[in-house]
Order: sequence, then C-alpha cells, then structure tokens
Amino acid sequence: MLKAGLLDFVEEIIYSLTCELQRISRRVEIAELKFHPFNDQVSIYIDAMRLDENAEIILDTSFTDTTEKLLRICISDLEIDFFGLLDLLELLKGVEGKNGVLPSILQPVTGEYITHEQQDRELWVCVCGNMPNYNGFYACDEDGDLIEPGNDGEYLYRCNYCGRVINDRNLQVIGINLNPNNEEG
Ligand SMILES: [Zn+2]
Repeated sequence: MLKAGLLDFVEEIIYSLTCELQRISRRVEIAELKFHPFNDQVSIYIDAMRLDENAEIILDTSFTDTTEKLLRICISDLEIDFFGLLDLLELLKGVEGKNGVLPSILQPVTGEYITHEQQDRELWVCVCGNMPNYNGFYACDEDGDLIEPGNDGEYLYRCNYCGRVINDRNLQVIGINLNPNNEEG
C-alpha cells in the first residue's frame, strides 16, 4: 500500500508539473528558479526543463553521457526527492509564461463573503455581481484550479468572472485565482 501511495504521488506531481509547463509553454532554464531543487551531486548538470511532443517532461542536461533525460528517470535515479519535486512545482508556479501568461496562484482573501438571492441559497451573487446564470461558478480545488465536477468532497467553487474562490459551506471567499489550471482541458 505504501508503495502504491508513493507511485500515486509521483504520477500526481508529474501531472501538476506538466500543467505548469503547458501554461508556461516554453523551455524553463533552471537558473530562472530561485533555487535548484535537484540533489547537490547532479544539480550542476541539469540546465533546463521542457515538454517533448508527447508531453513528457524532459530535462536538458550536461551529463557526459547524455544531453537530455526524462524527469521520470531522474526520480527513479534518486536525483530529486519528493520534497524537491514539491519545491519544483512551487518554483514553476512563479515562472511567467510565454506572452506574459500569469501562473496559477491563489491570492488569499480574508473577511469577504458572497451573498445569495433571498429565496434561494443556490442562487449565488458573487462580490463582482456574477451569478449562476451569467458567467457561472465552477468546481475547483484549494488552489482555485478547476476540477471535474460531481466529487463527494467538493465544496469550493471559482467565480468564472472575477476568479474568486468560494467555500460552499459558509459562502466565504478564500482567495482569488486569475489564471487557474483546468483539469478538464
Ligand atoms: Zn466574481
């Protein structure tokens, strides 16, 4: 079970990293990141990362035997650990994409609540004025990234007009994400 959990983690983080690289849509030099998330022994040989035509994450390297290496292989060669992978994801979220596209970041908001029409608790009125029958609200996760609707635990929704992320349980705005990743897309 533990092994399955670790493999799930690797798949999930690779998926999230792929989403960020798709958003950035260009090669990212490791030097652009605030620090190097790979292990000290190999970090000087790992220069950049990008997606190949199959949306696999490729590292451009200056190892003596190879100029590119799949991130998956680096993980199994223990050249980056799980904390390094989480760091890498956070670092990529801070990288501006081609054409200045913003990263998917939730800016926390406190003390803000949306309202609803008097007679119907489902008829939300966002702080920006958006309602279900205008631009609507879509199921999202704690980062404001859109998720497949209809999950049991789902309770967060993102206003499709202003990006506010709303807690369905108390109508509190937890933050704003102007550029969410879309798990459906
Ligand atoms: Zn709104």
